[in-house]
Amino acid sequence: MKKVTSADTVVMINHYKNILEAEGIRCQIRNEHLNQIYGEMPFTEVWPELWVVNDLDHDRAKQLLDEATTVGSPQTPWRCSQCGEDNEGQFGACWNCGAGVGPA
Ligand SMILES: [Zn+2]
Repeated sequence: MKKVTSADTVVMINHYKNILEAEGIRCQIRNEHLNQIYGEMPFTEVWPELWVVNDLDHDRAKQLLDEATTVGSPQTPWRCSQCGEDNEGQFGACWNCGAGVGPA
């Protein structure tokens, strides 16, 4: 058994587990119930953790999660080149003037 990662929510750790199991990597979640007991406590010690059953899967598991979180995470906020408005990363066009991402 080897720890791959931890996350601040059980939902996220289950998401990671699904990613790894889809690749045939056996894994287990630890601290899942601790997290439920302590709720929103901001201590990493009670964060749910994802462990691979086979240590040899560890590096591959790490890599898979790196790729998954890079693709799936929100993009960085951007500034509209037309009107100068700040936009959230997930928006492909300016909410204010409708201009697209990037230089005009
Ligand atoms: Zn704009």
